Amino acid sequence: MNTLNIKTNDGGQAAVDENQLQEFQSNFRGDVFHADTHGYNQVRQIWNGMFDKKPALVARCVGTSDVVRAVTFGRENNLEISVKGGGHNSAGTAVTDGGLMIDLSLMRRVTVDREKKTARVDGGCLLGDVDAETQLHGLAVSAGIVSHTGVGGLALGGGFGWISRKHGLSVDNMLSAEVVTADGRVVTASATENKDLFWGLRGGGGNFGIVTAFDFQCAEIGTEVYSGLIVKDFTNAAEYMRFHREYVRSLPDEMTVWMVARHAPPLPFLPDDVHGKMVLIVPFVFLGDPAEGEKLIQPIQEKTETLGQHVGMNPWAGWQAGFDGLVDHGARNYWKSHHLKDLSDPCIDAIVEFAGRLPSEECEVFIPHMEGAPSRAAEGDTSFVHRSTPFVLNLHTRWQEVADDDKCMQWARDFHEGTQAFAQGVYVNFLSQEGEDRIKDAYTGDVWNRLVGVKKKWDPRNFFHMNQNIKPSA
Ligand SMILES: Cc1cc2nc3c(=O)[nH]c(=O)nc-3n(C[C@H](O)[C@H](O)[C@H](O)COP(=O)(O)OP(=O)(O)OC[C@H]3O[C@@H](n4cnc5c(N)ncnc54)[C@H](O)[C@@H]3O)c2cc1C
Repeated sequence: MNTLNIKTNDGGQAAVDENQLQEFQSNFRGDVFHADTHGYNQVRQIWNGMFDKKPALVARCVGTSDVVRAVTFGRENNLEISVKGGGHNSAGTAVTDGGLMIDLSLMRRVTVDREKKTARVDGGCLLGDVDAETQLHGLAVSAGIVSHTGVGGLALGGGFGWISRKHGLSVDNMLSAEVVTADGRVVTASATENKDLFWGLRGGGGNFGIVTAFDFQCAEIGTEVYSGLIVKDFTNAAEYMRFHREYVRSLPDEMTVWMVARHAPPLPFLPDDVHGKMVLIVPFVFLGDPAEGEKLIQPIQEKTETLGQHVGMNPWAGWQAGFDGLVDHGARNYWKSHHLKDLSDPCIDAIVEFAGRLPSEECEVFIPHMEGAPSRAAEGDTSFVHRSTPFVLNLHTRWQEVADDDKCMQWARDFHEGTQAFAQGVYVNFLSQEGEDRIKDAYTGDVWNRLVGVKKKWDPRNFFHMNQNIKPSA
């Protein structure tokens, strides 16, 4: 290899010669890949198969010093950089086309402090890594629901899952972070050090630096939870949803009940003739006495026809990985989302109408119930906002063939547009590439202005811009 042309931050090209590259590599403990390196095509992949981007260089880091070197190399050569945590973000921001991808996927160490009930989690960990280590002690970090999701992107945007109604979001449980800044310094952000940065990291995404390690407060949940899936006939979906919107909002924080409209997967507890049929799946987790949980889910079981169910004590780590196969890597994905003010009758009618014509077998309409502990934190405590939203409407539009792109994306856009009247705000981690105005919808005006201030201070040249970008000049 002679000279490598790498995309620069301003859209131009920088010629990096062999000597410069060798010097960079000689001090780098991890691996550096370019198009001619064995394994390149594997390391450039991300979860969403819609993105087939080709970074000129991939720096796969094994420690903080590698991250510092990669940031320094990127800055000195004015390169466009992207940061890959778990590679899950559906907007495809983890990978740059032609620039330098700083890949954290080998940085996956988790260390649990059993006495303090805290976990130190490397910036490239997946949720499954965290569950594996914390569950040895009956602990869990409040995060998401699919074990191959990255902690990095999830926790920097918010992070909600089965236990967040009881224990708060990932951002609410973040105690501190080790951050490599745009100028290559290693700093700690916490409630006592670099407080403005710490505030920005808890909702503002990857805009301010690369987090090489997080410290999280763990929750004591034991190793098994009362949980399950109750599968309803879709024919009565509107009737069930009208009941659900009131009932789940009356439940204690220990109980989390969501809805997913989709074609039934071939689950063993469902009769064969239900497989592939349109259904409404009602999954739940109860963090308490199973006898109490049983009483709380009875009205759900009884409301409209239940086609099948799997309910009981499930190992937490197994439950967390239970949905992995439905959303595995490589499929084409186009997600659209917004928070819902409520599930009013016209909103339910619109949801049922669009869900009734899913454009592929793999699409899901996902409606989590939020509220609980996160809603009692004051808006502005963290940069994650819209804390009082009751429900989220997330369109997991997912398919395999390029030929279906237009059909599937149009369905998602129409559905999103058709429910806009019932929406207020959006979760930054569920955005596709939708432009700056839409990114602003993930925040309130005050919080947005404050985020711009934090950006100006910590990344004035917008070095970290492959993300849901908050420009320092915004
Ligand atoms: C199948 C699936 C299930 C999901 N379930 C949930 C859920 O239950 N709850 C929930 O809250 N969200 C959920 N999400 C959304 C998820 O929070 C985002 O996709 C998130 O961005 C994933 O993080 P990642 O590290 O895997 O992403 P990546 O694509 O690797 O990163 C996304 C962006 O985050 C930044 N970033 C990542 N790591 C770091 C780091 N260490 N330091 C600095 N910046 C970093 C970068 O800017 C990067 O562009 C889900 C997503 C998918 C695809």
